[in-house]
Amino acid sequence: MTAEHWGDQDDHLSPHQTAVIVGTGLAGGNAAATLREEGWRGRIVMLGDEPGIPFGRPPLSKTYLRGEEGLGGWLVKPAEWYGDSGVELRTGVTVQGVDTKLKQIALRGGDTVAYHKLLLCTGGQNRRLDLPGADMPGVYHLRTLAESDAIRRAAQPGARAVIVGMGFIGSEVAASLRQLGLEVTAVLSGTAPLAAVVSNQVGEVMAGIHRGHGVQLVTEDQVAGFEGTRQLERVVTAKGARIECDLAVVGIGIEPAVEAFRGGQIALDNGILVDETCRTNAPDVYAAGDVANHLHPVFGRLRVEHYNNAEKQGRAAARAMLGDLRPYDDIHSFWSDQYEHKLEYVGFARAWDQIVIRGSLAHTQFLAFYLVKGVMKAALGLNRGGDPEVDADGELRACQRLIRARTALSEATLADDQVDLGSLAAVAGGSDPGR
Ligand SMILES: Cc1cc2nc3c(=O)[nH]c(=O)nc-3n(C[C@H](O)[C@H](O)[C@H](O)COP(=O)(O)OP(=O)(O)OC[C@H]3O[C@@H](n4cnc5c(N)ncnc54)[C@H](O)[C@@H]3O)c2cc1C
Repeated sequence: MTAEHWGDQDDHLSPHQTAVIVGTGLAGGNAAATLREEGWRGRIVMLGDEPGIPFGRPPLSKTYLRGEEGLGGWLVKPAEWYGDSGVELRTGVTVQGVDTKLKQIALRGGDTVAYHKLLLCTGGQNRRLDLPGADMPGVYHLRTLAESDAIRRAAQPGARAVIVGMGFIGSEVAASLRQLGLEVTAVLSGTAPLAAVVSNQVGEVMAGIHRGHGVQLVTEDQVAGFEGTRQLERVVTAKGARIECDLAVVGIGIEPAVEAFRGGQIALDNGILVDETCRTNAPDVYAAGDVANHLHPVFGRLRVEHYNNAEKQGRAAARAMLGDLRPYDDIHSFWSDQYEHKLEYVGFARAWDQIVIRGSLAHTQFLAFYLVKGVMKAALGLNRGGDPEVDADGELRACQRLIRARTALSEATLADDQVDLGSLAAVAGGSDPGR
């Protein structure tokens, strides 16, 4: 570490400074741990409206929802760590605003909390449908532990479920409910699950997987309303389908949770705008995780909604609060588990002009490369390529290096199973994410 990486070292060394973290999710929890472990000597206060201690949400739609594991392995830190480390965890409190001139946070109920440095990790909240019956008992959303528990209670074997939207949450819940023995129908506006993110070609593979497991897909249609006397009895679609059911799970994406900051001094645009080092426009205010719209050195401005980013960006923002102003430039990655299939994705591609496949779509074991003018922007592995977080020699880790290198690659090279992606990355000169 060279001197220019560090700003004012005195701040975090002073025991009289207070760091406040708003949001007790994954980003907030990792930031608190990093602050304490890497040198913040003053107070650390965490404020969050959700009960419990910071944990990872992925099992809420998968193993936990199916009753296969608890959340012990998904805690950022064990419960006693917060007290032992002098981190004041205040849950059940809602932040209503921030005065960046007074350096003060307003809580619902009238209390205020002063800060020297502030990190905003408020994540996202589920989009809701403004449709008749959308709030009736039997219609569920999924973000929190309580919501996962509620779906689990309703998910009795033999019950009939409708999934609204087949993005990642919808697809994972559809898979879990089938695994629990429910009848599942999914209504989606596109032609195939996940098509907007992974392409129609790969989406069709996912459609085949879900159909093969007995999910009825109602494609290119939309839910128009939810009907029932006291409890959900059916879902009605725009094209006139009437699907009798016992429960519905709506998974139509999230919005960044910025209500508390609207009309204030912190710049917002599809989340909280931050620079390469997670700093907002306001002095000593930072943001990380699902809520942060980050100026990424490789991809430009982007806001992502993934576990690995929330974890790493939370840590990076904490380091910035400690004065380490190296850009956060992780080549993003995320995963999704559906039935026996594992999907891993690296990079970021909002659009592409070419997709190259290596492997077999028919055998659901392949890599898909998303290119713009021959340059790889993202890569997806279905049951192939390794976990880029742990598998240093895996194909997807090599893809992260290729994405960083930004060199044009030919279709023939990428599609050829004989060409080693690691060697290709070494030639292209893309550096390893280095964990
Ligand atoms: C069911 C489910 C499964 C997922 N599976 C995967 C997966 O397999 N792979 C993957 O990569 N990603 C997955 N994700 C996404 C991943 O969980 C998120 O990217 C991650 O949780 C983001 O963390 P965060 O800390 O930014 O936000 P959050 O986890 O949303 O935490 C934000 C916290 O801030 C609190 N908050 C918001 N506003 C206020 C306020 N005004 N005052 C006080 N507190 C406030 C919220 O209540 C919340 O506790 C999944 C998400 C869900 C919901």
